[in-house]
Amino acid sequence: MDGRRLVFAHLYPGHMNLYGDRGNVLALRRRAEWRGYDVDVLDVNPTDPLPLASIDLLFVGGGEDRHQELVVEDFVSRRQELVAAFQDGLPTLAVCGAYQLLGHRYQVADGRWLPGIAWFDLETRSGTDRAVGNVVIESRLDLSPKTLVGFENHGGRTFLAPGQEPLGRVIAGHGNNGQDHMEGAVREQVVGTYLHGSLLPKNPQLADWLLSRAIGFKTGNGELSPLEAEFELRAHAAMVERFTGGGRS
Ligand code: GLN
Repeated sequence: MDGRRLVFAHLYPGHMNLYGDRGNVLALRRRAEWRGYDVDVLDVNPTDPLPLASIDLLFVGGGEDRHQELVVEDFVSRRQELVAAFQDGLPTLAVCGAYQLLGHRYQVADGRWLPGIAWFDLETRSGTDRAVGNVVIESRLDLSPKTLVGFENHGGRTFLAPGQEPLGRVIAGHGNNGQDHMEGAVREQVVGTYLHGSLLPKNPQLADWLLSRAIGFKTGNGELSPLEAEFELRAHAAMVERFTGGGRS
């Protein structure tokens, strides 16, 4: 086993890739390469093999309702193997449309329901309008800084069951449903969130959290060598300031 080689899978890059979600994979790749890792990214489209046993991290992006409808059958057909991999600790980031499909079910704008794979104990109902704008949350993960910034644009409203841990608390923006101040969900090493952006270039501390888990998942030791992110974190701080009322809006 070559401990300096990482394999990421990008599920449904052709369908689920809104607002530059692919930038999350690029950010993970770069921050791994800058630390001396070789990275392979497998693009996995519907019906393609997904060799979960040889993957160190999984990413799935957001999508419009019609794109979610195009992948949902394939996604649900992979439920058993995905749940087994999540239970083993596969680090995963799922954004917006993919986050919704990790719950029990998702109601598209015309009222029909799509099934999810029920990894997260949540469901997403169709809203009467779209939740659009910039978001700042305080994450529950062990991150520094604890804030995460991003951009949301979703019709669905997500409700967590009691006991389902959110990713964080909304400081600005809508988050899961605009009512309970919760954003995203976390279970094992799977993170679901409404934050596009791309998310990880704006939040390098979350990119490193995921990378460290990917390396730990592969080798048993997730220690990361230090890598500066001065400009990214300055941009991050400016966004937090701006969207929490500290500056220009
Ligand atoms: N189609 C979903 C919704 O509107 C997800 C949108 C997205 O991924 N940005 O809620």
